[in-house]
Amino acid sequence: MTQTLQAVRGMNDILPDDAEIWENFEDIIRDWLRGYGYRPIRLPVVEPTPLFQRAIGEVTDIVEKEMYSFEDALNGEKLTLRPEGTAGCVRAAIQHGLAAAGGGGRRLWYQGPMFRHERPQKGRYRQFHQVGVEALGFAGPDIDAELIVMGARLWGQLGLADVRLELNSLGSAQERASHRAALVAYLEEHRDALDEDGRRRLHSNPLRILDTKNPALQEIVEAAPKLLDHLGDASRAHFEAVQAMLHDAGIACHVNHRLVRGLDYYNRTVFEWVADRLGAQGTVCAGGRYDTLVEQLGGKPMPAAGFAMGVERLLALWLEGGEAEYAIARPTPDVYVVHQGECARRLAFRAAEALRDVGLNILLHCGEEGSFKSQMRKADGSGAQLALVIGDDEAAAMDVGIKPLRGGGAQRRVPFAVLAEAVLDVLHGSDEDHERAEPEKAGQDAGAKDGSV
Ligand code: ATP
Ligand code: MG
Repeated sequence: MTQTLQAVRGMNDILPDDAEIWENFEDIIRDWLRGYGYRPIRLPVVEPTPLFQRAIGEVTDIVEKEMYSFEDALNGEKLTLRPEGTAGCVRAAIQHGLAAAGGGGRRLWYQGPMFRHERPQKGRYRQFHQVGVEALGFAGPDIDAELIVMGARLWGQLGLADVRLELNSLGSAQERASHRAALVAYLEEHRDALDEDGRRRLHSNPLRILDTKNPALQEIVEAAPKLLDHLGDASRAHFEAVQAMLHDAGIACHVNHRLVRGLDYYNRTVFEWVADRLGAQGTVCAGGRYDTLVEQLGGKPMPAAGFAMGVERLLALWLEGGEAEYAIARPTPDVYVVHQGECARRLAFRAAEALRDVGLNILLHCGEEGSFKSQMRKADGSGAQLALVIGDDEAAAMDVGIKPLRGGGAQRRVPFAVLAEAVLDVLHGSDEDHERAEPEKAGQDAGAKDGSV
């Protein structure tokens, strides 16, 4: 027997029940982003490996150990499945001149799968999805504050009450260098107490040590020199302006001195939105300013900022504590078409298309015919408002039966020529007259021959 194949570990199928929830989420996302003037961009899933090495940084978790990299078997080019979206978005903006200086700024957003070779667990997958936004060409603190306010608005729209903001400033490269010197000197003093990761990073990426999750190191990193104390006047003023705008917007923020982010391209404002309910995988959105990245990737110098949200984590929150009712709202057909007999089948097929012509969603009974009774059970179960019923009788007369499925009402028979009009009539009438009734439960033991849709 052939062994059945499984999806790659950490990469999930999103089945219809869930995929519909994803679509509901994406509808909200699109409207929300339009409200802030963001325009969509669609980017390749595969990029040249050096893009990520240059953008994210060689000494980061992502580049060191999480990337799916491979060589193109045909030309030997080094390629990587994108682990995040900012690098590709900036690459595209430079390549197509989207971020040309003097353009007054660009607001772009994207969504799609990202790939990281991590240990799969709840909220952490090897293929996961992000919605990301990038604001290119904006230097002021207003865009930083707007990026954060956007998040708060989305949590409100999703009904998520307990997502908190953590904020920090990483200053400029120079300011980080000054802090780094103090930090390395301090950590050298505690070298023996550091773990292996910490000793390895002591000189390559000491800032990341502040981010350690090792409980044994908490006391040491808590007392370490703070970046904030090394900020110059301009960085300090920028950071204060961001906080003032957040204050005006009524957003409580907690300055977390140890928030450094795992990607090297950030400077000045960095932030994370955290839902403690999700435990260790609690960060649902993270971002900040990256004023040197465009230049680093070969473009003309241009300030920029953005964030990325983890869709799986947000959906988990939405379903647990948000407005789950809206999340799981399912599209139902307006009309289910049942039929019996060869002539009826052909008329049913035409009737379904005629109703789609006027914009209705139609589920046509297809495949094995089954009894009328079993077809009607399917019609009920589909959630449709009404059934079209076409038997040999109706077909011979070029008539169609219309049977309301919710809230009663008798079946009537109308000529095929006026079908669409009659159906719209019944549907509009039923909107006004009745609350939606529960679909009748189909009996398991009705004994009717079961058809398949
Ligand atoms: P973490 O600290 O959880 O590993 P990160 O700092 O690596 O996160 P970013 O690169 O900033 O994450 O990505 C932005 C968001 O994407 C995260 O806040 C999270 O919501 C989501 N995310 C990142 N990695 C994964 C993953 N492997 N599975 C699911 N979601 C993820
Ligand atoms: Mg990570």
